[in-house]
Amino acid sequence: MADEEWYCPRRAPYGMDQWRKPEGGDQWSENRWTGLRVTYSRSEGGVTLEQRVEPQRFPASWQPRVCSFCGGAHPEDVLRLIAEGWEVEPSLKGYKGYLHPPGYTQSMQGAMRKMGRGMDPIRALAERPSVSDPTPPVKIYAQHFSPAQLEELNRGRCD
Ligand SMILES: [Zn+2]
Repeated sequence: MADEEWYCPRRAPYGMDQWRKPEGGDQWSENRWTGLRVTYSRSEGGVTLEQRVEPQRFPASWQPRVCSFCGGAHPEDVLRLIAEGWEVEPSLKGYKGYLHPPGYTQSMQGAMRKMGRGMDPIRALAERPSVSDPTPPVKIYAQHFSPAQLEELNRGRCD
């Protein structure tokens, strides 16, 4: 059975309803993290960044579906990742957030504490315990969520 045609709810606020609206509606893509990506690593001595291209894999046995228009993850998949221990990072925009693998928040907070005590930010980030965060990050847009899903999402927040 084919899914019903739908359009991303984030089109409307930007007046894009009549602009480049694709035939057949927007889609949930299932291959967001299966291409190649450019990564940067720290070389000896500290500040030189090395660039390399490597296959992109999602750091879990499955990957969330993503809206073809705005890049927001499917709400059911966001809630499933949270149930598996993924962590919500709220943003300054109340309708947007990010999802990170288990352990990410603690790792970042440790680096921030070291920066607060004067450590060079590049060193603090390089020395933190490695948590394989996806690139691009998993984005959460509230506009894709039903009221019941939003309630469940807010229960899973760890701020
Ligand atoms: Zn969308």
